[in-house]
Amino acid sequence: MAKADLHTHSDQSDGRLSPKDLVEYASDQGLKIMAITDHDTIDGYEEALEASDALEIEVLPGIELTTLFNGNETHLLAYCFDPRDSDLLRLIDRHKLARVERAKWIVERLTEKGLELSIGEVRAEANGSNIGRPHIASVLVGKGYVAEKKEAFVRYLSDQQLGPIKSNYSSVAETIGAVKKAGGVTVLAHPGTAYSEADLEQLLDVGIDGVEVVHPSHDYELQKRYERFAEENGLLMTGGSDYHGSGRDYEKYLGILTISESRVEKVKRLADQRKQLS
Ligand code: AMP
Ligand code: FE
Ligand code: FE
Ligand code: ZN
Repeated sequence: MAKADLHTHSDQSDGRLSPKDLVEYASDQGLKIMAITDHDTIDGYEEALEASDALEIEVLPGIELTTLFNGNETHLLAYCFDPRDSDLLRLIDRHKLARVERAKWIVERLTEKGLELSIGEVRAEANGSNIGRPHIASVLVGKGYVAEKKEAFVRYLSDQQLGPIKSNYSSVAETIGAVKKAGGVTVLAHPGTAYSEADLEQLLDVGIDGVEVVHPSHDYELQKRYERFAEENGLLMTGGSDYHGSGRDYEKYLGILTISESRVEKVKRLADQRKQLS
């Protein structure tokens, strides 16, 4: 049975490998189907698709969208949408801007705490890719405020440390609507222990299509729990390694934490149905 990984990051957001190198590495690791799910960008898709031509690996359109759910940031994965859909591209552009605004806001909070850093330094660290907290963490490491990025998250960048982060992301409902209109499907990313039963009910009500059951943050019990939840509610089940490159969390799981081709077929089938409707 062919192995698939539907959760990876390239240097177009906070991963290390270029889209081309990531596809080649994934193929070397034995994967036959993959999606690059960069944070709020699909800028790596064309390059990844081209790289896959010479290899026996299929690349699906993918993205990890940051959305707002009852005021909290929630990651939704989306797959098999039309990557040229103008409304979806507009939403993604809005999220890119929201990321810059949010990074500025975080830099201001850190400056108030007495740290010396600027948004220019964070932008330089991101080097044209979609900006995120890992880039701020790198700047803090470079300046010697913390020994490593993990420490930056613990001391300065966690949701708890920052308090409610001001951001202009789209709501879960709006995001789900835009992805559906673009013929794609949405999946709740790495739910872990972040959601109550009531939250999950609410996500079903707004039309989530699936849940990420296989993820390095899920132990066996959590995986089974979300598989049951998906089965009971007729949801898609996806998964992957959340690979960000060597030296990063989860680096050893590429090619190891995978899902079967049959689960991917269900994702594609739902997206095909949606495209025929529109
Ligand atoms: P952002 O996209 O700006 O919200 O940043 C979230 C990203 O930061 C996640 O996708 C991870 O790649 C990374 N991240 C989150 N928490 C941690 C942590 N405790 N240590 C290292 N990286 C983290
Ligand atoms: Fe990330
Ligand atoms: Fe995530
Ligand atoms: Zn991710």
